[in-house]
Amino acid sequence: MRFSHETLVVRHGRRTEFPIIVALHSTILGPAVGGCRVRHYDDFQAAIEDALMLAEAMTYKAAVVDNGTGGGKSVACVPVDWSGFQSPDARTALFLDIAEIVDGFGGSYHVAPDVGSTADDMAVIARRTPHVAGLPLLFGGAGGTSHGTAIGLFAALKLAASKLFVSHDLAGLTVAVQGLGGVGSALLALLAHAKASVVATDLDQSKREMVEKSGARWVDAEAIAGQSCDILAPCALGGVLDGPTVAGLNCKLIVGAANNQLAHPEIEQAILARGITYVPDFVANAGGLAYSSGIEIHRLSAAASAKRVEDRIRGVLERAFEMQELGISLTKAAYRIAEDRLRAGGFTGPPAAFG
Ligand code: NAD
Repeated sequence: MRFSHETLVVRHGRRTEFPIIVALHSTILGPAVGGCRVRHYDDFQAAIEDALMLAEAMTYKAAVVDNGTGGGKSVACVPVDWSGFQSPDARTALFLDIAEIVDGFGGSYHVAPDVGSTADDMAVIARRTPHVAGLPLLFGGAGGTSHGTAIGLFAALKLAASKLFVSHDLAGLTVAVQGLGGVGSALLALLAHAKASVVATDLDQSKREMVEKSGARWVDAEAIAGQSCDILAPCALGGVLDGPTVAGLNCKLIVGAANNQLAHPEIEQAILARGITYVPDFVANAGGLAYSSGIEIHRLSAAASAKRVEDRIRGVLERAFEMQELGISLTKAAYRIAEDRLRAGGFTGPPAAFG
């Protein structure tokens, strides 16, 4: 297991006695910010590896958009039959446990929502520590992260489209959106407003009405990746871009919010060999982190934070496209930009595990 991190702490929650892991990868560029993943792991070592890997990824996501924060992550290992998915009291006990552990870091770690935790859970954490992001709007927070992620994703999509297509707006381009959760549904609305032609899908059939109301066309989930379109926006799960899917792609550009879209790093070469441009997911989806940090850590207004997200994501992609002309992929370029920022800040760890 690779350990290039500043800190790894494992504690038992005082109330729940569940193991709670906090990994801080780097605080060189600012306090570590990263979500709290709440899930069951059959294997405790897998939970530690998840925390370490996700914390390192947060360092690079923050550095690439010059967010003024570092990378960290926490993981709460809950039993397979944990009642907190239904019982508010059990849930409150867990998030108070997490809050006390986060508070012990004295501000070098700010916790945020992740898989298994929500903005409302962050409000529970805020009862015990101020070092929490992604709070509900009523608590002066960013109201979760999907809104900021969608703002950043839309900025990435427009910038990348302006590099590839003659038209400087999205009207007339066809965009295929996979996954209509918090981010995908916000993207759908932004695309409709921009008069793009949209095809969209979700495993959840109840989303069909929303798609058709927006003027977009619904397709079955298994048909989305092979749709004839200009831009594919994967906004569902990771690992979607595997060998068979890439062989069947019928788009010119991929820009989406899903984390870890590439089933394995080498698949990017197969995408590029097909003449398709791939915008690295950790840049396209950095808006959620940047927007909530803008409001909750850098104390910007919502409008100023949204503008900062757009400027930072456009800026990094402009540079990455310039670097691409020298023969490196956008992903490698983005990792280099992040790495250069970290080194300039005094980071001495090894290069990114996944760059
Ligand atoms: P979400 O859970 O709200 O929505 C995901 C949606 O994808 C769900 O509606 C689900 O039914 C659908 N889905 C799952 N598998 C599918 C498939 N095979 N085909 C079609 N639809 C499918 O998630 P979200 O918050 O909208 O995030 C979307 C993606 O972006 C996730 O991968 C997430 O990790 C990533 N991401 C989100 C944020 C954020 O701020 N929310 C930030 C960074 C990255």
